[in-house]
Amino acid sequence: SAKSGGRGAFRFFEPELDELMHARRNLERDMRDALSERQFELHYQPFVNAATGETRGFEALLRWRHPQRGLVLPGEFIPLAEETGLIVPLGEWVLRTACAEAAKWPQEVGIAINLSPAQFRSKELAPVIVGALASSGIAPHRLELEVTETVIMHDSEAVFAVLAQLRELGVRIALDDFGTGYSSLSFLQRFPFDKVKIDRSFVDELSSTRAEARHLARAVVRFAVSLGKTTTAEGVETEEQLDILREEGCMETQGYYFSRPMPASDVARMLRRDGAAIRAA
Ligand code: C2E
Ligand code: MG
Ligand code: MG
Ligand code: MG
Repeated sequence: SAKSGGRGAFRFFEPELDELMHARRNLERDMRDALSERQFELHYQPFVNAATGETRGFEALLRWRHPQRGLVLPGEFIPLAEETGLIVPLGEWVLRTACAEAAKWPQEVGIAINLSPAQFRSKELAPVIVGALASSGIAPHRLELEVTETVIMHDSEAVFAVLAQLRELGVRIALDDFGTGYSSLSFLQRFPFDKVKIDRSFVDELSSTRAEARHLARAVVRFAVSLGKTTTAEGVETEEQLDILREEGCMETQGYYFSRPMPASDVARMLRRDGAAIRAA
């Protein structure tokens, strides 16, 4: 990096650094305006029963409809939203909007929402969730909150308390990106969760040409299943991956093989079509 290269190297990169800072400031300003100007929207990706293909629910994925840049993915703005604290009001908007939209769906399927560590630190999380449930009228058991291990890395006792409080309400907790963090076995035993989502990187490797990678991926899937919670595989793209996942006892799958994330207006249509197919069968 520029720093490890010493002072000279740092100076050499100064114009680029300046540009970077400038871009960051612009992004931050644009993001603040975006929330009041309603440029954010949620897309939804179904997760399905691995054995039957039945839709169990949808994960809300944040998108920014930028007036100049078009549709911007979360990887480009969530990190800065987390650093600046904007993720707190933005995350509240996500919770309220996802619950309100799910309340209009023709079937009472699940609605999964991603949470950032900063939302836990804000202390407002539980009241915001209770508020989103109350104003939308959806049943708490439909709501799934997805958290990664980084959420619990700091101040885990406080976070555990909030998670336990939410579970009392009937809300479910999913451990996202399983396999990519540093969870110890004792952590997994103490962490109060209902679902494990196996990270896409392992699902990818299930069909790798490298035997070692393939075996490791299968071992991760097997380990996740052995935790005895609902297991969901993320990023399923091929039939071969699906077959292996079923063989290993994975209960749910999610990925482009079934559907890409879709705008809210397509969700109700998909559920009606699914419902009709189930009734006809
Ligand atoms: P995630 O929660 O692990 O979500 C899965 C990501 O994988 C999504 O990317 C999804 O579009 C993508 N994906 C799903 N199936 C496939 C597949 O078959 N192949 C490939 N290549 N990708 C697939 P996306 O929407 O860009 O979101 C990235 C991350 O941003 C999410 O990872 C989540 O950590 C974060 N994120 C998204 N929405 C929110 C939000 O409302 N709040 C917070 N705090 N984070 C969010
Ligand atoms: Mg997720
Ligand atoms: Mg994930
Ligand atoms: Mg993730």
